[in-house]
Parts: sequence; C-alpha cells; structure tokens
Amino acid sequence: MFSRIAKNYFPALVVAGVVFFAAVTGIYSRHFGQLAQIWPANALLLWLMITYSRFARASGWLGACTGYFLAGWVMNDTLIINVWLGAANLAGVGVGYILFKALKRDNEGLIGPKSVLYLLLICSGAAGASALVGTGLSKPIPGSTAWSRFILWFSSELNRHLVLLPVCFAGWEWFSKQRLSHWRSIFNIWKVNIAPAGSLAASVGLAAITGGPGAIAFPVPALLWCALSYTVLPLCLIVLVFNATVMGMVETGILHFDQMNQRTGVIVSFRLGLSFLVLGPLTVTAIMTTQRALVERLNQSVTWDSLTKVLSRQAYLEQSLSFIENGKQGHTPSIAILMLDIDHFKRINDTYGHFIGDSALVAVAEAMSSLLSEGQICGRLGGEEFALTLSGLTLEEAVCFAEKIRLAVEKISIPLNEDIFIQMTVSIGLAYHPFADDVRLRVLLAQADAALYQAKANGRNRVELSPFLSGQGKMNPSAVL
Ligand code: GH3
Ligand code: MG
Ligand code: MG
Repeated sequence: MFSRIAKNYFPALVVAGVVFFAAVTGIYSRHFGQLAQIWPANALLLWLMITYSRFARASGWLGACTGYFLAGWVMNDTLIINVWLGAANLAGVGVGYILFKALKRDNEGLIGPKSVLYLLLICSGAAGASALVGTGLSKPIPGSTAWSRFILWFSSELNRHLVLLPVCFAGWEWFSKQRLSHWRSIFNIWKVNIAPAGSLAASVGLAAITGGPGAIAFPVPALLWCALSYTVLPLCLIVLVFNATVMGMVETGILHFDQMNQRTGVIVSFRLGLSFLVLGPLTVTAIMTTQRALVERLNQSVTWDSLTKVLSRQAYLEQSLSFIENGKQGHTPSIAILMLDIDHFKRINDTYGHFIGDSALVAVAEAMSSLLSEGQICGRLGGEEFALTLSGLTLEEAVCFAEKIRLAVEKISIPLNEDIFIQMTVSIGLAYHPFADDVRLRVLLAQADAALYQAKANGRNRVELSPFLSGQGKMNPSAVL
C-alpha cells in the first residue's frame, strides 16, 4: 500500500520539489519590478523531463505546476502574477520537451558536432514559447511594444537554457560514470591546467577595461582554448560562470558596450550575442568528445585482438620490449617467451566450420588469460598462434607455467551437442634469458619459435625448451610439475 502510494506520487513529489527550490532561488534574484536574473527552474525541469521518462507523465507535469505555484505563493506573488508566470514557464518547458522528442535525440548530452545545433533549436523553441505566452498574458506596459517585451523575455530565457542545459547533461553524465574509487580524483585539482581558465578571466578583465562594441568578442580565443583543454563538464561550468559574470558585469556597468541600460535593442543584442558566443566552445567540446571517444575506440582496436581479447600482435611486441627495457633497469631481470600453437587446428575448422573454430580460439585465449598475473602478458601473433612474455620468473617457474597452460588447454571441452565435445591440445616452445640487459626480443622470439617447431616435430601437446638454453636444454618440462 505504502509502496504503491510512493510509486504513484514519487515522480510528482520530486518534480514539485526541484521546481519549488529552483523557482524560489530565482524569485530571490528578482529586481523590483523586473523578471528574475537567475532562473534555473525551467532548464532544470526540461532536463528532468528529458532524462527521466517516468517524470514526463501527467503526475510529473502536475508536480511542476504545483512547484511553480507554491514558490510564487511562498514568495508573495499575487495570484494573477503567479498564474501568468507559471503558464509562461510551463509553456516553454513543454515546447522544449516536445521539440526534443521530435528531434528523436536520446539523453546523450553534448556528443557529436550537431548536438549544439539541436540544443540551440530546443532552447530557442522553449524560450520562444515561454516569451510568447508570457507577453501574450501580460498587461500592456505604456512605452513598450509587445515585440520589445517578447524579445527581452526570449533573449534572457534563451541565454539561461543555453548555459544551464549543457551543465545538467554533462553533470549527470559525469556523475553516473563515477565509482567510489574515482571520487578521490576530484581532489587532484592541482594537476589541472588552469592557464586556459586564467586567460578567460584575463580577457573578461581586458574587455571591462577597454569597453566598446568589440569587447564582447575578446574572450573568444580564451573560450576556444578552454574548449580544447577541458572535458565537457568543466567546460560547461566555465561557460556558465563566464556567462553569469559577464551578465553581472554588464548589469552593474563594469562592462559597457554602449548606453546599455537605456535601450532595449542594445540589451537584447547583448544577450543574444553572449548566448551565441557560448555556442562556439560548446561546439568545440562536443566535437572533441566525439573525437576522444573515437581515438579511445581506435586505441582499443589497435591494442586488443577483437576475437580473442588478448593483446594484438603489435601491442604484444611493444609491451614485451618495454618488459625488456624495465629488466635492463634492474626491475624484472629475467624474461621468458612462450610461443604456442594449437595442434591440428585446421581439422577443427574443416570438421565443424570456422565459427566453431573461432569459439575454440576464444576458449584457449580465455584459459591462458585466466592464468596471467602481473608482469605476464599474452598476445595473438596471428591465426592460431599465441605468445606469452613472463618477466621475473626462474627457468623452473617459467617451465611450470608453460605446463600449466598446456594442461589448461587440454581440459577445455566445448560442447557442440549432447554427444560431441571439442577438445584441443597445444604445443609450446619456450625461450628464456635470466638477464634482460643483453637480450634482444627478436632473438628470444626466434628461439621460442624454433622450440615450438621442435615440440610439433616431437609429437605435439608438449612443452619444448629452446636448445639455446645452455646446459638446460635437456630439462624435462613434465618433470618440473
Ligand atoms: P599444426 O598442429 O601443425 O599446427 O596444424 P594446424 O592444422 O593447427 O596448422 P595449420 O597452420 O595447417 O592450420 C592453421 C589453421 O588455422 C588454418 C586457418 O584456417 C586457421 N585459422 C587461422 N586464423 C583463424 C581464425 O581467426 N579463425 C578460425 N576459425 N580459423 C583460423
Ligand atoms: Mg600455426
Ligand atoms: Mg596449429
């Protein structure tokens, strides 16, 4: 019973609560006789409706109405003003929501070059609807035309949406990706490059000193530098702070472009100019996010073998080289290379087909990977050939490891149906060098390859040591276990 009530009323309560607190904050920022300077309620509500579909129901919208109404009532707005402003706010958020749905965007925030254009379209629609209803329902004010009131309302609403919505999207995306272990990284702020943010502050200061119509463009290079340097959330926050600061400086006359406070046209022009100014860095950060994701994917596919998920040939060779380099600095002196080839693998392909052959390769790779620990890597050299590099082991330990792998592969049993199970064996060639300082990877690989060839020649399903292991070539691997 309680849970049913909670389920039905929870969305309405959350929406009403968020809208109420955001609206009260906004109403506090009102100058006498003017609209609020800070109005986060509409952008927050729009983000909430877009992000959580369960809020975007009748109960959620009803909660929003209640939130707006209660905030106005608590802050002593008359009933008429309360209904008027509430209707304008809801119209804006409603149209923004419909536009978002019509553009069929997921709540993916600022990803992709076109996302900022979509954002501009949605914010313009929301601001336009809000301004239209707000102006339509308001009493005509002597000395001002309906158009001037509409465009004033539109420009301020557009500006708020454009700077607040990206913060909501980016903030939520960042927050949902955080894990407990990552939280400490927040405090690593001394590692952050503050030069771009510093240059933005300096350029705003320069604009204030210089003034004039060109001053609004002064921060553009610094904004672009910020967009190229920071990830999405910090950039969106910087844009928000920048926007609020410039707005405040203009309000107080610290920054002046013209007879700012005397002409509606100049105020509207300034607000729209500032809004469009922030589109530049937002576009850059959206493109950068896509590019970073692309580079990350490219890195993944260069580093990992797509089928078996062990290291690719190139990454394996590079990491093995760095093991040897580390060994030269005395960290992990010995290096062992295991070269491994599945026995009669062609038969598996020929008998059961390539797809089953692929599953067999994956099973072998998984068996090997499960035995790896620090200082041990595995890569696919090509086809059904793998190689492992093990650092810091004695020769006996390395042989023991190779035997473990051989036995682990022997135990693999892939069921095809109730009667047929695929089983495999591997041949392994082992090369070893106790000191990394005078060893070359190519030489070790060639020795392991020769040992593998020997293992095949000696009957397969066995580990064979490189004949170059002086005095130890006669070691019997199976006796080590
Ligand atoms: P040996 O015991 O001498 O190694 O015999 P083998 O049959 O394993 O060796 P051979 O080199 O003749 O055959 C290797 C086969 O591996 C041939 C090739 O079709 C198959 N192969 C290579 N890459 C893949 C792959 O990605 N998937 C599948 N299913 N088969 C692959
Ligand atoms: Mg082969
Ligand atoms: Mg083979």
